[in-house]
Formats: sequence, structure tokens, C-alpha cells
Amino acid sequence: REWSAGYFDVNQDGLVNCNLSIDGNKVEVPLLDIVQGSRERGMDMPMLLRIENLLDERIGKLNQAFAHAIDKTGYQNHYRGVFPIKVNQQCHVIEEIANFGEKYHHGLEAGSKAELMIAISTLEDTQACIICNGYKDEEFITLGLHARQLGYQCFFVLETPAELPIIIKRSQEMGIRPLIGVRLKLSSKVDGYWKDDSGDRSIFGLSTSQLVDVIDDLRRADMLDCLQLLHFHLGSQIPNIRNIRTGVLEACRYYIDIVQEGAPLGYIDLGGGLAVDYEGARTNDTHSMNYSLDEYCIDIVEAIKETLDSADVAHPVIVSESGRATVAYSSVLLFNILDVNRFEPKFIPESLDPECDENLVGLEAAYKSLKPRNVQECYNDAIYYREQVRTLFARGLVNLRTLAQAEDFYLAILNRIKALLPQVKRIPQELESLSEQLADIYYGNISIFQSLPDAWAIDQIFPIMPIHRLNEAPVRDAIIADQTCDCDGKINKFAVNGNTQNTLPLHPLSGDDEYFLGAFLVGAYQETLGDLHNLFGDTNVVSVRIHADGSFDYVDEIEGDTIGDVLSYVEYYPKQIMDNFRRNAERGVRSGLINAAQRRQMMSDFNASLSGYTYYEK
Ligand code: PLP
Repeated sequence: REWSAGYFDVNQDGLVNCNLSIDGNKVEVPLLDIVQGSRERGMDMPMLLRIENLLDERIGKLNQAFAHAIDKTGYQNHYRGVFPIKVNQQCHVIEEIANFGEKYHHGLEAGSKAELMIAISTLEDTQACIICNGYKDEEFITLGLHARQLGYQCFFVLETPAELPIIIKRSQEMGIRPLIGVRLKLSSKVDGYWKDDSGDRSIFGLSTSQLVDVIDDLRRADMLDCLQLLHFHLGSQIPNIRNIRTGVLEACRYYIDIVQEGAPLGYIDLGGGLAVDYEGARTNDTHSMNYSLDEYCIDIVEAIKETLDSADVAHPVIVSESGRATVAYSSVLLFNILDVNRFEPKFIPESLDPECDENLVGLEAAYKSLKPRNVQECYNDAIYYREQVRTLFARGLVNLRTLAQAEDFYLAILNRIKALLPQVKRIPQELESLSEQLADIYYGNISIFQSLPDAWAIDQIFPIMPIHRLNEAPVRDAIIADQTCDCDGKINKFAVNGNTQNTLPLHPLSGDDEYFLGAFLVGAYQETLGDLHNLFGDTNVVSVRIHADGSFDYVDEIEGDTIGDVLSYVEYYPKQIMDNFRRNAERGVRSGLINAAQRRQMMSDFNASLSGYTYYEK
């Protein structure tokens, strides 16, 4: 409940529900029902589930929160949100944002020519803003000027002074007055992972003297009237509200002075930064946030109003480029667990062979004498004797079975110590991480690199939990490993009850029953940043729309990459690879390794794999 913003909860059957209020009805849909329906349609695990309603919810909430803040403070202008396409470029997502957002004139932010082409072909509402960030060449500018011709509020935000001459030249050639913005390099620094996006060394934005040059150049070109927007972006996922307020106040000082220079500014663009509380901790920790959406909006609107009122400058349209907070909630990565590796002894004998190695005797003694008061001593013994056996094994002085017995005793001692720790008054420092050392490894049917790249690249925490069996105690401590054969392909940081911890409580697997986990809040950045490590491709994607009566439609189903697809991404051609394999198989026939019928079977299996899923198929 801490991180779900009310959109997910557990029902009395122990299932995770998506909870929504639709037309005044409280609707609860178990994610497991969606999984079952998808499987019946042939869409298996792993699967990215998109809940369209949650996109609408977030756009609605953002616009309403700004409208409320504007109303409450008596602010004399309105809000215009834009969604940064880079945060989730998937066609279905952008189309839904454009359609639902139309009633709020919610626009799009484009950071490249490709993204601008998405924006001008998807948006129909010309009152919505299109904000062009990123380095812009002539072609980019030409496209943006065409958008102006069609009546769109399309702004070129100058990231560097070098873009200005191209804008001036192209707009004069085409006879179109552009809308121009300037991106500021603010000195305000922020907390969080993206703190380097602001401050003097930020790689984006204009310094103050560059800004002055831009104003002078525009005036010389008789285009100062085109300078209408002031932009800044302090960084994504800003956990601390104080930083946001400080940044807005600094930007407003620039705003006033640029107006006093004669530019008819009318828009202030705050960039992104509105955080998502992935941990549910409500702190200014990197993965959290110490403010609510309402506080965010009120603080911004108040700060702009108060600063501009003091200089008698008219209130601008407030633009924000919230990406993460708009789309994170709407996607859940659902996956099955394939296997578990437990760090437990396989077998502890009743009594040892009298001829056995003496170190095993030492291990057995430590195991049998273990009490809450001597945990440290027994732990030391376990380490010492196991090390002795390992050394003897390395020198060929004890055999494999003796080493296996030593390993079993070692694990038995550590597991018993773990069970005794709650009775231990002062837990020795060395033993504090015992739970992690002994955590089970749950093998998930995913690639972290493809589906949760930020978990690998920047230690991003995503809430992960089973989507069923939640009326049973999750008695195992676990970490999650993925399907890639990369040691980094694991998750060992979890949000649990508003804290970050290194293990996740999970249920033991039960016979052949399947066990499903969900990684939540993955709608922002993950799909686009994912890569093909070990050639695990895109997962299946299922989009649903939930209705007021609790039913839901599968509005879109996109099959994940086949093996043939991922091979073609790295320049192999399925036909050619098939021909090559056919030649190898023919060589096998010629040399008598296989017969012609076996070759036919081989070719048919090879062909079936080319059109198969890249993930583990049961
Ligand atoms: N605008 C700009 C210029 C950005 O660079 C970013 C991301 O860093 C965003 C908007 C989106 O930020 P967020 O996802 O934090 O809302």
C-alpha cells in the first residue's frame, strides 16, 4: 500500500488486485485473472501488462492537481502538461496519452526528429504544446516549422546557442514565425540519482552569458517576440520538494529579467522531475519522495505567483514534462519462477564414520553444541573447519564426498544460527547479513537487462511481489536471478514495508504449481532502455482496459520477439541461418552421424525454434 498509490492492493483471497474507481464504482480486478485470460489467448509468461486506465488516471490526476493549485492560489493562467516521448515511446501508450489527454490539452515533448514525427502525427489537438528539446538540425527545425504552419504550439527549446542561427535561417526561408524557448542551466542543485542534470556542469542548457547573447541575436534578427518560453529541468526523480521550490524560484528570477529585456515570455516549462515513490518510504531517499502530487503543484504555483507578483510580471502558462510519474504505474512485468536454489544442507548424518576426517568431527561438534549464547563461537568454527577441508581437498588429501559433508555441516550450522538469532541479545556484526548469505535464489523467467534495465544499470528499486498466495506467510528470504548467464542478472534490492532490504520474503514453491511475481511501476523508461543481452528479446505485451462492472477487455496484444526476430536484430537472417544449419546437418548425414530422417527432424526443430519465444517455455 505504501508504493501502490492505491492502484494495487491484496484481496481476501490473497490475490493482488488492480483497484480503480470507474464512474463512481469501486472496481477490483485480480491480476491473476488477466494472466489466465492472456494465457488462454496464447500470450505466455513473461508478459508486460499495461493497464490503460492507469495512464488515464495519472494524466487526469496531474492535470487536476495543477488546476486545483491554480484555483486555490488565485494564479492567473493555466497548466499545460506534455509527456516526454522518450519515457515510453510505444505507439499504444502515446496514442492513449494523446487521446485521453485531449480534454486537458496535454501535449508531447520530443527530443529527436523521430519523436517529433510521432508528436505531429499523433496529436490532433492544436492547443496542446509540442516541446522540442535536444540538439536540432535543419531537418528537425523544418519539421517543427511545419507543425507551426498547422497551428500547433510547437516550441524549439534552445539547448545550445548553435541551434539559434539554424532556427533563424530556416524560419526566414520558410516565412514562419517560430516559437522559441531557452533552456537554462540553473545553479540550484538537487538530491537524487540525476543530480548532475542541474548545476554549472550540467551538459544541457545555456549559461547566463549565452542567454544574453541569444536575446541580443534574436533582437538583431527582429525575432525577440518569438522568445516565449523559459525551460529548465533539474533532473528526473527529484526526491526532495525543497529542491524543486528552490529551482522554481531561481528560474523565476531569470523569467522576470528576460521579460524586462523585452521578450514577451508567456510559458514557464519546469521539465520533469516529479518523482515516483518506488519504496513507499515517503522520504527524500533516491527511490522515494517526501511530497505528494498536490504539494508538488501547490509549491510550484505558489512559488511562481509570489515571485512574479513581486515584480509585477504576468503569470505564465505552466508547462511540465512529467514522464515517470505519468506512466510508471501503468505497466507491470509479470513473470513465473522456474526454480529455486536453497542454501540448506542436503543431508546431516546421525553419526560420523569413525574413520572420517577430523575436521568433520569439529564441524559436527559445533553443530551439536549450538545455543543462542555461543553463536559467534560456532560460526567461527564452521568457517575454520570448512576452510580446512577445502584446503585439504585442493591438495588432493580428502575426496569429493568429504568436502560435500563439510559443506552440508557448514550450511546446517549457518541455518541453525539464523533460526536462533531472534533469541540472541546482541547480534554480532558478522552475523547481521546472515539472512542475505543464506537467501534462496529464485530463478525468474525474465531478463533484467531487457525488462528492468535500471535495476541493473543504476540500482533502481522496483516493487516486486507475488501476485497470489498472499493469504499465506511468505516464509522464505530470497533474491531473484534472471535467465541470462550474467552474474549481474539478479535483483537483490527490494522495497518491503516502506524500507529497502536485500532479500524479498517469498513463498516456497509448491509441487508443480506455478508461482507468479509482478515487478510493478515499470512503465517509465524500462521498455525503451532494455537491451538484447544473451538475445532475450521483447516480452509479450498485453494491454487491458477495465470497465465499471469489473470486466476487462484485451485492447492490444503484441507477441514478444521470436528467436528469428532477435537474430535479425544482430544481422543474422533467419533464411540464411537455416541454410547454413541445413548444410551442417547434411555434412552429418554424409559422415554417417545421422540419417536423412534424423536430419529432417532436426531441420523441423530448428525451424520451430526460429519462430519460438526467446524465454523459457513450459
Ligand atoms: N524533460 C527532460 C528535458 C528530461 O531530460 C526528462 C528526463 O530526464 C524529462 C522531461 C522527464 O523526467 P521525469 O521522467 O522525471 O518526469
